[in-house]
Amino acid sequence: MAGTETYSCPECTTLMSLVSRERRLIYVCPQCKVELACNDIRVDEVFAFLSIDPKDGNEGITGYRTPDGWLPLLCADKARVDSMRGLAQEMSTATNARMKLVRFSLREDLEEIVP
Ligand SMILES: [Zn+2]
Repeated sequence: MAGTETYSCPECTTLMSLVSRERRLIYVCPQCKVELACNDIRVDEVFAFLSIDPKDGNEGITGYRTPDGWLPLLCADKARVDSMRGLAQEMSTATNARMKLVRFSLREDLEEIVP
């Protein structure tokens, strides 16, 4: 798991800290002390900032160009949504197009890719 991933606490939505304990990595909520082992983390909802084309109203998934490449405005927790909101506002203002924040919460596992 990438060290830059962040997760918000399922109980209180505070950003969780990644700590090492007995050679295992766990996420701990600094607020309510909830702990999650890394393999307890599932993506059960996805948030996306969608752009709305001013000409025809069509929606699209957006990406923000950073010096390191494209960052899709797509994420799986509310803390990350909050960190992306400013980028979405910047894009909306720059393109003069409305954007919507949406949440998809119905998960269907379709396939598993194995090494
Ligand atoms: Zn918490």
